[in-house]
Amino acid sequence: MFTSTEISEIQKLLTPEKKIVIITHYNPDGDAIGSSLGLKHFLKQKGLEADVIVPNDFPKFLKWMPESKQIIIADYKRKQAGEAIYNADVIFILDFNASHRSGNLVGPWIEKARAKKILIDHHQQPDDFHYVYSDVTIPATSQMVYHFIQELNEENLVNKDIAECLYTGIMTDTGGFRFRSTSATTHRIVANLIEKGADPAMITSNTWDTNTVSRLHLLALILGRIEVVKDGKVAILWLKRDELKEFGFQKGDTEGFVNYGLSIMGTQVAAFFMEDLYDDFIKISFRSKDEVDVNQFSRNYFNGGGHINAAGGKYMKTIEETIVDFKEKIEAEYF
Ligand code: 5GP
Ligand code: MN
Repeated sequence: MFTSTEISEIQKLLTPEKKIVIITHYNPDGDAIGSSLGLKHFLKQKGLEADVIVPNDFPKFLKWMPESKQIIIADYKRKQAGEAIYNADVIFILDFNASHRSGNLVGPWIEKARAKKILIDHHQQPDDFHYVYSDVTIPATSQMVYHFIQELNEENLVNKDIAECLYTGIMTDTGGFRFRSTSATTHRIVANLIEKGADPAMITSNTWDTNTVSRLHLLALILGRIEVVKDGKVAILWLKRDELKEFGFQKGDTEGFVNYGLSIMGTQVAAFFMEDLYDDFIKISFRSKDEVDVNQFSRNYFNGGGHINAAGGKYMKTIEETIVDFKEKIEAEYF
């Protein structure tokens, strides 16, 4: 929560003559887009305009959301994005904890921007900004945007557009209201969002019934060779660049693949290694159960971070070397 002093200062900042920008992280996911658009629609209800800026493109299955077409993608609209950030009076930083998580282009812009910066985020170890609402116990930034609206005492302004966006963010970041930090409060908020017009069946179908045959073939490939090591405690999945090309990889196609590793009885860690389509590095996704802290593990060894049970990283070796190093490190740390 913001303190009451902070919340009244923020309320004073939010006036119609101010230029407001909302920024989220590189490779935006459902919570990133949901929280950003949800906040934009809320500000609109207050009579304020805001630009949502994302560092790079986001998956097609999020493009049904109200006003997702107006999102400025910095990769494609460099000048417009740069000027908006430079000229902003207020910048909301949503669903990421440090400027560099918004990439090499947008990150430095955020640092140089003269705006008042307001962070709302649930990742570990947030950087210092003018106003920081950070809570790693909350499963989605979209839920935190709802708490922010509550703190402003403006729940009455929540409409269908806001409800649909925040619902999508909470649904995706909790894996469909299942992951560990999903709480009774989460469900109460989701109930409110449904009352305000979010349609669970429509949102689920638009977001998740979006498989293509090629994505299923890609999934079949990696499930067919899933490897379990360390007495069944660690599941390993991987994909090579040539395979991505062969199956016509689209952004977002591999989302959720890593969870299959964790769905095996007895596994405590799942790791998914993927060669980047263009550059020579390996993108890694880690998932874990209970006390196994993949955030710290990824910070220590794989140039990444995230949450205790869901983190990502990057590694500059070949995929074979990366997997060897991973097995060694995970054994040394945990098994
Ligand atoms: P995913 O495996 O879905 O890409 O990411 C899982 C979580 O880890 C997300 O919350 C994401 O923000 C975080 N994450 C993913 N990649 C990185 C990374 O390279 N660095 C850091 N610090 N966090 C990451
Ligand atoms: Mn999130």
